[in-house]
Amino acid sequence: MLVKAARSEGRKVGFVPTMGALHVGHISLIEAAVTECDCVVVSIFVNPTQFGPGEDFEKYPRPLEADLDICRKCGVDAVFVPTPEQMYPTENITWVNVEKLTETLCGASRPGHFRGVATVCAKLFNIVGADVAYFGQKDAQQAVVIKRMVADLNIPVDIVVCPTVREESGLAVSSRNKYLTEEQKKDATLIYKSLQNCREMIEAGTTDIGTITTDMRKILSQAPSIQIEYVSIVDAESLQKLDKIIGKVLAAVAVRIGPARLIDNIVVDIK
Ligand code: AMP
Repeated sequence: MLVKAARSEGRKVGFVPTMGALHVGHISLIEAAVTECDCVVVSIFVNPTQFGPGEDFEKYPRPLEADLDICRKCGVDAVFVPTPEQMYPTENITWVNVEKLTETLCGASRPGHFRGVATVCAKLFNIVGADVAYFGQKDAQQAVVIKRMVADLNIPVDIVVCPTVREESGLAVSSRNKYLTEEQKKDATLIYKSLQNCREMIEAGTTDIGTITTDMRKILSQAPSIQIEYVSIVDAESLQKLDKIIGKVLAAVAVRIGPARLIDNIVVDIK
């Protein structure tokens, strides 16, 4: 109703989909939406269909009151907090499967994850009916997948991707950082260090991706607590593997530290 009324009056509606446990990364998306739109909707939904067996769906933090408080303070007009039963009232047998882009990076190690993400985003876009939806560069593959889904399915929403918000240490802010001890958090700063090293190597003229990722792995290995899932440099648009640096590339890292799986990335564009 709120969105319909706003749009019928020609007001621009912004939408920020989240899983809650809101932090400064989410707030940056909400602030962008509040600045650029006349009416802002935030969704908070820990989407079961994007979690694999043994992942952290049950223990994912759900501090709803604190989240609502943040939304209020940011000037959000409406918060959509559906239950899993409301989002999936019957067995879900219709899925959005974005091919190719979901085969690499996190898609390779989390089968079904992006099917769940694309499906819930398509549902949320249909339910909310906003003009613009805001996503974070922190989840680079997700942003690429959603942009492609919207284009391929002619979903009438513009996708805006906002920069990754980092702690002073360089660690990308994440709800999953809550799972880390202080010591593990210190180790986790090596993730961004490895990405910065990657940028420096590319800017200094290194083009062999094997050489760059070997160095990145060495940096990550300085902390025995870090288990590397992947260290990849791919084409920033197709997300396909490359041998040499060419055009705009996405350098992406996924690691496990203790109970947390952490991801981060940078885009490097050498003209
Ligand atoms: P999540 O609640 O983890 O599903 O994230 C909701 C949105 O916030 C996604 O578009 C994320 O990419 C974005 N996001 C999460 N962490 C950050 C961050 N550190 N900086 C910018 N955006 C973020």
